[in-house]
This record gives sequence, structure tokens and C-alpha cells, in this order.
Amino acid sequence: MKFDSLADRVRGRVLLPGDDAFTSSSKPFNDRYADIVPAAVLSVASADDVGTAIKWARENDVPLVARGGGHSYAGTSVNTGLVLDLRALADVHADPDTALVTVGGGTRMRALYEALRPHDITFPLGNSDEVAIGGLTLGGGVAAVSRAFGLTCDALVSTDVVLADGSTVTCSATENPDLFWACRGGGGGNFGVNTSFTFQARPVVDSATCLLLWDWDHAVDVLLVAQEIQRTAPDALSLRIGLTSGGVVSVVGWHLGSADELRALLGPLTATRPFRCDIEDRTYWEAVEYVHHETAGGAFAGRTRTTSVPLPEEAVRTLVTAVGKWPGSGNPDGGGAALFGWGGAINAVGVTETAFPHRDALFLVSLDTSWTSSDGPQVVRDNLAWLTALHEDIAEHTDNASYLNFTDPDLTDWRQAYHGPNLARLAEVKRRYDPDRFFRFSQAV
Ligand SMILES: Cc1cc2nc3c(=O)[nH]c(=O)nc-3n(C[C@H](O)[C@H](O)[C@H](O)COP(=O)(O)OP(=O)(O)OC[C@H]3O[C@@H](n4cnc5c(N)ncnc54)[C@H](O)[C@@H]3O)c2cc1C
Repeated sequence: MKFDSLADRVRGRVLLPGDDAFTSSSKPFNDRYADIVPAAVLSVASADDVGTAIKWARENDVPLVARGGGHSYAGTSVNTGLVLDLRALADVHADPDTALVTVGGGTRMRALYEALRPHDITFPLGNSDEVAIGGLTLGGGVAAVSRAFGLTCDALVSTDVVLADGSTVTCSATENPDLFWACRGGGGGNFGVNTSFTFQARPVVDSATCLLLWDWDHAVDVLLVAQEIQRTAPDALSLRIGLTSGGVVSVVGWHLGSADELRALLGPLTATRPFRCDIEDRTYWEAVEYVHHETAGGAFAGRTRTTSVPLPEEAVRTLVTAVGKWPGSGNPDGGGAALFGWGGAINAVGVTETAFPHRDALFLVSLDTSWTSSDGPQVVRDNLAWLTALHEDIAEHTDNASYLNFTDPDLTDWRQAYHGPNLARLAEVKRRYDPDRFFRFSQAV
């Protein structure tokens, strides 16, 4: 059989449909893509396996895609050829003297936090256990602490990449700097397979968190007041302002300071009488747990835009009205909108300094919808139409910019929206490191 010749050349296991672990190492997190099943999965055992598999895939004309945590919104880590499951590349080494942290290219968030915690050092990471470092970093990586500490990719110091010819290069500010530039926000799966990443970490900071909830009739006021708080707040404070189709308005926040400071910053919001208002001191690690996000999965779609100023009342009303009219699905809380506080340290880096271009945003406006396997095609169509209409309706109040890591397969002008002024340079890097476009997917550079 074709894949036997791969199995003979690697240390990792080649899995075929029906094998134990085949599904867990290849099924996309987003069930919208559950029908895409690879011909085989290689659970790589070492970085060498990656180079060997790429050479084998070339010789045998088999499309290959890397999979970290499988959390791509658009299912870009699964194909019908060979999936490279990187999850065994999960060694984490933290140097207590330099706070440099080297992690395997498939390391997932839970393991990474656990490895950092004994050293009381950190860098911006995602808030979901199974998201992996590869996709997160290569697409930028935004955390609740990013307004103070920057993006995940801003903390990147160097990375080892297996290129389209199977060779390995290290890139950093001084070695292959153009590839290093592209690895900081240009998007996973484009330039090679990153087998390890080294980050500059920093000491953790005692924190405070908040969770405030309101009934729906407060929605417009809360959005207006909370945006203004975020606009004028120190970089230590980051808010996520949410509306869900279940009829709840929420503000979740992380402040790198005390609960007393946080209470003072939130004064105008607490005055609007939330039905729940928890504001508490936390250690850094307690705050990580507090903003930790578990999602039931299912099938979902998300669309984003950025804005460099608070949304005006007209746009806020548009959001509130649309979420109130979410068409429904088997997931009762399945539709929503959220404003993620960006800016601060994210914007201290120039637009062209890294491939991540959104260096003037104050908020990421994220719109999402979800459904279950028991929903019929009409429900899915209605949900996607709702999402598209809302994305269009807020266009005049937002920038034509979208966050590549909340990948939107239905975005037509994705080149501009994801990459902005960095597109031409990304295309140059692609030509240089992957001239025959071995790494391909629908929204590849
Ligand atoms: C529940 C959930 C929570 C999230 N939370 C956050 C968050 O807090 N902050 C944030 O910024 N984003 C967040 N995201 C978005 C997330 O950053 C992206 O979905 C990211 O691409 C996931 O990375 P992954 O490795 O898990 O996914 P995968 O689907 O495995 O990979 C995504 C893409 O990157 C490529 N890739 C993966 N690893 C490598 C590698 N080592 N080398 C080269 N290419 C690689 C894949 O081929 C694919 O194209 C979240 C997504 C979900 C579903």
C-alpha cells in the first residue's frame, strides 16, 4: 500500500481510517468540516519525520497539511491527503535565567501553561486548552494580556521551519529574517512546518478579573459605556464585551493590577446595575483559569472586522438588533457578537514590522454563529446568511480588516482584510521559500 513506504521511513506512526487515534489526530475541531477525512495521518515523532514526510509527499504527489491543535475555524489543518499530526512535538524548555522558552511546534495551551507556571513566567497565550502554539503564533496570537504584553508572535525570538523541499532552517531577526517576519502573523500552513518556537517570556503579574452580566435591555448602554472605558483605560486592562443570542450582555475583564483599581476603572459600568458583578483579586494563574474558555464545539462560523475607534451608537444598535434576531439553531446560545479590547502594546509595533498588520485597532469585532449536527441545511443557510448580513451591515462603521486566526472561509477580499499592506511582501517570501506552492489551501498566500 502507498503509505507503507512512508511508514518505513519515519519514526512516528502512520494511521489509516479505522485505526485507533485516526479520528482524534485528524478530525477538525469545527464540525463544519467533519466530512473532510484524510487518506492517512502521520503522528510525527520528531522534527526529522516532518522533513521525511514532506519529501515523501512530493515524490508520491500527495497533498500534505500540518495539524497542531486542529482548531482552525476554517478546517485548514485537514485535507484528503496526508495530515501531519504535530501534537507529539510538545517538549517545553524554560530557561530560568533568560526566561527564554522553547516549545515544540505542536504544543497545546494547557501543557504550555502548566510548564510555565512553576517558573512564574509567561507570554501571551490563548485561553483554550487544545489550541496549539503553531496556529496561534503564526497567525498573530491575541490574549487577554495582549494590550500589556503584545501578541504571541511579538514574543517570538526564533523558530525552526521545515521548508517545502524538506530542509530545515532556523529563522530569527538575524537569520532568514524575511521568513521570521512572515512567521509573525502571516498565517499557519503557508511557508513551511514550524517544528519549534522560542519565545521571550516575562515575570507574571498579580491581577484582578471581572465578570459583569446584564439583561438585554441594557445592551446598547453597556456597549457604549464599556467601549469608552476600554478606550481610556491603561494597557493593563483588557475587556471582552459580549452579546449572546440567549439574551445576555457580558463584560469579562483582566486587569494587571488590583481589584480596587479595577473597580474604579469600571465605575461607570457598575453604575448601570448589572445583575451580576464579580470583581476580584487573583494571582496571574488564577486569572488564566478565570478567562479560560471551554467550548462545546459543534459546527460554527465566525466573521471579524476591526475598528480603531469605539463603535458609534448606530453601529451598536445594529449589532444589538441583529443578535436579537439571530435565526436560531439547535444551539440556543449559538449566535453572538463580541468586542475584544485590542490596542495598547499590540499597537506599539509598526504595521510592517511583523506580518501581523492590525496595529491600529482598538477592538476586534467578532461575529459568530453555530449549529448542531441535527440542524438541517436550511438552518445552516439561514445562520450563514445572518452572519454575512451583519458583517455587511457594520462595514461602514469598521475597517476592512479581519483577524486571520478567526479564519473566515467565506470572506471574498481576504487578501486585503487579513494582510493589509503586508500582502506583497508575504507573496515575495512565499515565492522564495515555497516557489512551487507545495503548501496550498484556499486562502494560502
Ligand atoms: C476554541 C477556540 C479558542 C481560541 N482562542 C484563541 C485565542 O485566545 N487567541 C487567538 O488569537 N486565537 C484563538 N483562537 C483561534 C486560533 O488561534 C486559531 O484557530 C489557530 O489557527 C489554531 O491553531 P491550531 O494549531 O490549534 O490549529 P490547526 O487547525 O491545527 O492549525 C491552523 C493552521 O495553522 C497551520 N499550522 C498549525 N501548526 C503549524 C505549525 N507548527 N507549522 C506550520 N503551520 C502550522 C495549519 O496547517 C493550519 O493551516 C481560538 C480558536 C478556537 C476554536
